[in-house]
Amino acid sequence: MRINVEALREEKGATMALNMVEEFPPVDLTRSELVFVEPVRFAGQASNTGHRIVVTGEAYGRARATCDRCLSEFEMPLEAMILETYYRSDEAPNLPDEDEREYGENDMIDIAPAIEQAFILLLPIRIVCDEACRGLCARCGHNLNEGECSCLPDEEWGLLQRAKIIRET
Ligand SMILES: [Zn+2]
Ligand SMILES: [Zn+2]
Repeated sequence: MRINVEALREEKGATMALNMVEEFPPVDLTRSELVFVEPVRFAGQASNTGHRIVVTGEAYGRARATCDRCLSEFEMPLEAMILETYYRSDEAPNLPDEDEREYGENDMIDIAPAIEQAFILLLPIRIVCDEACRGLCARCGHNLNEGECSCLPDEEWGLLQRAKIIRET
């Protein structure tokens, strides 16, 4: 998602409307992968604030992920507010601000990395297909969202194990 800011750089205070659509490659998460199932959209604007280009707007996407509880794949909408500040590499500050991003002297700003990061920051620590997801049976691995398995309830299982231990000792 590249923006040519050559013209925008000429006038302080100038603004450029942005409406972009682009395919994003999958994102590697620690436990699974986030696969975009439709192109990511961005609507917003870029502004020249003097020595910086500020990009604001909203990014939308739809991705397939793996549920941390039941391990099934599901799709989820992604929506992130974007507010990014960019400086040109030859105007880099002496003490770079960690929140600011650099762009090259060809005046092209790629906002895709900022959008990808914003999407990832929105993900919960545990990605679940549904808050009510029952996950997998710890004993047989059956997906409990599809119904009960034939394993005994925990209580009976515990009694059975205890009875076995008693018998074996
Ligand atoms: Zn699930
Ligand atoms: Zn089971």
